[in-house]
Amino acid sequence: MARASISVGNVTVTPGERAYGSLYCGSLAARTEVRVPLHVVHGAENGPTLCLESTLHGWEPVGAEVLRRALQRVDPRRLRGTILCLPLANPFSVEFGGTIESAGLRVNPVDALDLNRVWPGKLEHGWLTEHMAAVLWHEVIRRCDYLVDYHDGTGACDELPVAFPHAFPLHPGRAQRAAAAGADGVGATEPSDVEVSDAQRRAMNDKIRALAIAFGASVIWWREHEPNPATLSGCCALHGIVPLVVEVGGGHALDRTVDQGAECTLNILRHLRMIDGVPVLPERQIMVDHYVVYRSRTGGYYLAEPGVALGARVKAGQLLGRVIDPLTSEVNEECRSPVNGILVSRRIKLPINPGGYIAHIADTDAVIWERATA
Ligand SMILES: [Zn+2]
Repeated sequence: MARASISVGNVTVTPGERAYGSLYCGSLAARTEVRVPLHVVHGAENGPTLCLESTLHGWEPVGAEVLRRALQRVDPRRLRGTILCLPLANPFSVEFGGTIESAGLRVNPVDALDLNRVWPGKLEHGWLTEHMAAVLWHEVIRRCDYLVDYHDGTGACDELPVAFPHAFPLHPGRAQRAAAAGADGVGATEPSDVEVSDAQRRAMNDKIRALAIAFGASVIWWREHEPNPATLSGCCALHGIVPLVVEVGGGHALDRTVDQGAECTLNILRHLRMIDGVPVLPERQIMVDHYVVYRSRTGGYYLAEPGVALGARVKAGQLLGRVIDPLTSEVNEECRSPVNGILVSRRIKLPINPGGYIAHIADTDAVIWERATA
């Protein structure tokens, strides 16, 4: 049977073609249209439907460039399945909140809501961000079998490709560790009313784990916790869509991590047999169940220690940098790695407020899986 065309937003795409369009989510007071850009690659052959989504948070726009580079290398005539790509899922959070020089907000400036805390959105009695989530959920995400959600190190930090699989809690000790880490997206704001059986949880965890390994980042942070249904990845897991949160790049900058992220994206397609080839993996991959998102206690100017490179091995107690008083040179804070680990992300901007991102460190004493090239 011939494969059918697909209609999404304002485009209809025949098999073996690609199209660029948008999803209409409403109009503002002065008739400014709210449109979320959309890139559809509709394969000539049958296969899974994959959502590649980036920039829920406008201060993390690098994923859009990662996805542009990856999808340029995908020939729709040879693709099995369909890619529904939302490279800039929260457009006003990219456009406003700064100038191009300072760039982007985490929230949607129209209503100050975080698009990663409102899933699956609502069209009735909701704020604009909730309307946007509902449109994206019903028109795009619910139609997908898999979803990869791209974030980055924000304007303040660079970052290696890293996979953050959020799994259902099957090991109580690991769930406590995940909660204690206090990182983004952990902890339900309210319990979900979706019932997921133990067998479904186990099957979902296996698929999330396989997707995370196939992405091909050198570091994978495995977390087990009850899904927060208001986050996109939690909402997907509860509705049977296999989610993977990833981060890659940062500083609003083009560096080597962008091409690495594009290769990782193609690895997902290879893993799902949507394109030919085997995943291109680094020499060593580790999965840890402890990972530190190090944030400052004080404000000032952050001076990184010379020679502490992205991807470097650091020892517990090693000095990563200092927050100093930009007027008096007084050291407000010495930032030392709390663990032996790998520096996955590090601050590259001078000014810092209390709570600002200093580093991500994968704890190499908490490795639960690893693969090394012989
Ligand atoms: Zn983010």
